[in-house]
Formats: sequence, structure tokens, C-alpha cells
Amino acid sequence: MNKVLIISFLTLAFAKGCKPENIQPNEVNFLSERKQDSTYVHIVSNSFAPMEISVGLKNGELKNIHIKNHGLLKSKDTLFKVIIVPNTVIDSIGETKLLRKHITAKFDYGDSKTAVHNDAYVYSLPVAIGKKVRISQGFNGKKSHSSIASKYAIDFDIPVGTEIYAAREGIVVYTITGYKKAGGKAYVKKANKILILHDDGTFAAYSHLMYNGALVKKGDTVQRGQLIGYSGNTGYSSGPHLHFAVRLPKDICVPIYFEGYENKALKKGDHVKRIKIQ
Ligand SMILES: [Zn+2]
Repeated sequence: MNKVLIISFLTLAFAKGCKPENIQPNEVNFLSERKQDSTYVHIVSNSFAPMEISVGLKNGELKNIHIKNHGLLKSKDTLFKVIIVPNTVIDSIGETKLLRKHITAKFDYGDSKTAVHNDAYVYSLPVAIGKKVRISQGFNGKKSHSSIASKYAIDFDIPVGTEIYAAREGIVVYTITGYKKAGGKAYVKKANKILILHDDGTFAAYSHLMYNGALVKKGDTVQRGQLIGYSGNTGYSSGPHLHFAVRLPKDICVPIYFEGYENKALKKGDHVKRIKIQ
């Protein structure tokens, strides 16, 4: 209640300008609160995932600005007084300019201090029950699964428009659905995607989905085995497939195993079938 009252008196400081890096649009708001001598900037989360924040000053010219450099912004929570600026500084350069030109704000999804992948979890294959699919790239795949972020990703060789089912229950952090094209490395940030947060603090990414290919939206609770969207060929991709990866915060990919194939590291050329086990 208190929080709502306070925020209603604040102004939106970052509407334009300083664009938080690494996260989707509209995940955070910067609110400023002017008091007698200083102005306080708070960061408000609109996200369903926790975020680690890193705030800094771009150069050393400005004095007397107090910054809380690092912190954990919990889901839908507020970090108060992240930046404290004397009103004399605000009045001389302006709030928008101060934030845009002098402050850096970096965000990473997840809480790396508490997230630990539940290695006992056996994932459901992300395709329809009874469907047999070929693996086109597995752990440490030479083509594109060598980075920390993709080391243990699995590529499923499936045509555009194939139904995708949640491999594990969780909360939808975001969906990206507006891309239409695929290509080389220039397309690396242009893949449609669903990101789901698990209860152990890890994230599942379902990537290269078709245009408008998500049936879920930010904030939805998703059950294991729920139909969530349609595969495609968007972003950095040489052909239709689903790239599925589970990651710790800071984009650290972890090994995962699927129902029916426990402890088996799937590799290129393997065929797998989702079997309903009840
Ligand atoms: Zn892949």
C-alpha cells in the first residue's frame, strides 16, 4: 500500500534515453523522487524474473552522486534509492540528461547467487506425444553449440509450424514473436523465442520460433507438456529447427536429459520420440 502511494508521486525518469541493456523493453522503470536536498532514483521491476543490476557513472566528472552499484531486483519488486543526486546537480544538467549521458545501467536476468539447476529433473521432449524427431545438433555440437551459452543446447530437426510443448513447468518471462527471417551471424539477436523461468532459478529458451509463433505471453504460468507455440526458422539459423537450451543466470548453459533418454547426451543423428508416461 505504502509503495503504491509513494510511486504515485514520482516521475518517470527514463521514459526516453538510457536504455537498460540485455533485457526486453518495459521490464524496468526508473522513478525519481525529489526531496529537500536530493533526488532519489528507484528502479521498479515489471518482470516476472529476478534481475541482477549493475549501475555506474560513465565518467568521473560528476561529484557527490551516490550509487548503489550492484543489487538484486526481485520479480515485480522495487529497489529504492539506487541513485542519489544532489538537487544542485539535477538542476544544473537536468534529470533526463543526467540519466541518459552519465549513468549506465546493466541488467541480467536471474539471481546467480541462488540459482542451482536441479540435475535430477528429467525434461519432457518439447514436441507432441508420439512424435519422432531427429536431433540435428547436441551437446558441444560443432556447428554452433560451443559457446558457454549453448554448450548443452539441443537442436530438433522439425519443419516450420511444428507444435512446441513446454519441457518443464515455469513462468513465461518474455516472448519474442515479431521476426520473419533467418540468416547468418547478423541474425543472432533476431530469433523469435519463449523464455521460461523454472523454480530452481534456471531458464529454458525455446528459440527460432515462427513469426507470431507463441501461444503464451509474459507472466503466464506454464505446465510441463503444455502446448506453448510453433517452431520456425528465424534468427541465426540455417534451416527450420527448434533450439532448446536451459541456462543458469549469466547465460550459462547446463546439461539436460529427456524422459525416455535419461542420462543420454543426445547427439546429431539420434532419433527421439516423446512417450507419454503415466
Ligand atoms: Zn542450436
